[in-house]
Amino acid sequence: MDTPDRAADAGRFAALTVPVHHASTLTFATTRAFLDRRTQLFDGYSYGLYGTPTTRALEDMVARIEGGSRSIAVPSGLAAVTGPLLALLRAGDRVLVADCVYGSTRDFCTEILQGMGISVAFFPSDADSIAGLLTPATRLVLLETPGYYTMELQDIDAIAREAHAVGALVMADNSYGFGLSNLFTHGVDIVATALSKYGSGHSDLCMGSITVADDALFRRIKLGISRLGIGISADDAYLVIRSLQTLPVRLAEHARRTAPVVDWLARRPEIDVVLYPHSVGPQRDRHARFFRGGHGLLAVRLRQGSLARLSAMLDAMQVFRIGASWGGVHSLIAPFDLSTARRTASVARSGWLLRLHVGLEPLDSLLADLDAGFARFNASS
Ligand SMILES: *Cc1c(COP(=O)(O)O)cnc(C)c1O
Repeated sequence: MDTPDRAADAGRFAALTVPVHHASTLTFATTRAFLDRRTQLFDGYSYGLYGTPTTRALEDMVARIEGGSRSIAVPSGLAAVTGPLLALLRAGDRVLVADCVYGSTRDFCTEILQGMGISVAFFPSDADSIAGLLTPATRLVLLETPGYYTMELQDIDAIAREAHAVGALVMADNSYGFGLSNLFTHGVDIVATALSKYGSGHSDLCMGSITVADDALFRRIKLGISRLGIGISADDAYLVIRSLQTLPVRLAEHARRTAPVVDWLARRPEIDVVLYPHSVGPQRDRHARFFRGGHGLLAVRLRQGSLARLSAMLDAMQVFRIGASWGGVHSLIAPFDLSTARRTASVARSGWLLRLHVGLEPLDSLLADLDAGFARFNASS
């Protein structure tokens, strides 16, 4: 083994950080290289929009975390889902979608894809088979597990086997499981993740990633994305690179703080079910098959609720803030009306859910805030 020549190293700039490259125009050494610049789309550099050393460094980190080979960074979690759908689907194709997907994903499928002549069918959020819905036109199956707000888990392995048997690709929104999973080992072909959550971890930017394990699929999606004219800023890429270095520590700490909150909530008379499949409920084993742990996101189904009682509870909370985009250091709470959001039977089809994100504030203050909130909930009618 070579011994590093530490004397020759003197004066070298040896920061531990990735440089932030701002660029639109890139220049080329020769006419030939300029004319061939599109060949640089996948591995080289041709224009700031298509990648810089900073965005490529981020994509490499994300690909490693997800267990894939290549990632594409895009401006939001939603774009990470919609980009592959636009790149891969054509009129006449059919796509199957888990009923529990993120609301804007659902709207994209029903408003944009159906408008393009792509047929969309939803299947139950806790499905272990989609055999009855697969047709020769089915090109893609979209999973989100655990589901948005309602936390049901699909059986990824079983669904992927069925989908692959008819030649369909499987895409999963892994915003929940980022840093805790390798969905490729369960048959997923495309992993779409909202880095706006724990990936960035501080509620200060939006970003998403598309990760694959197959190079041909990477090229198809990257080409499609390059035609949409979307890209990410170098500064935002840098912020996510910085946050990813503490990702395992933050996930573990959010999980450690969430355990006593889950126990406390499970004893509340106002609560019917605590939805935290890492440690409670009938889908614990399925969760353990896909994810190495939990984190700070959970939901509870209320025995009874009304907008008035929820408003009395939430509007005066002191530590929990009302908001949806979880994954930062702050605790959040958000109501969800089941009666308007699901098509197929799953956890329930009516009633109110509260989703909580347990942040890094002192645990005592979180429990006191919830306790006072339930007192207001009960005093209101
Ligand atoms: C937050 C989230 C998204 C959307 O991410 P944005 O960056 O806000 O567009 C998509 N899917 C899931 C599961 C999410 O939690």
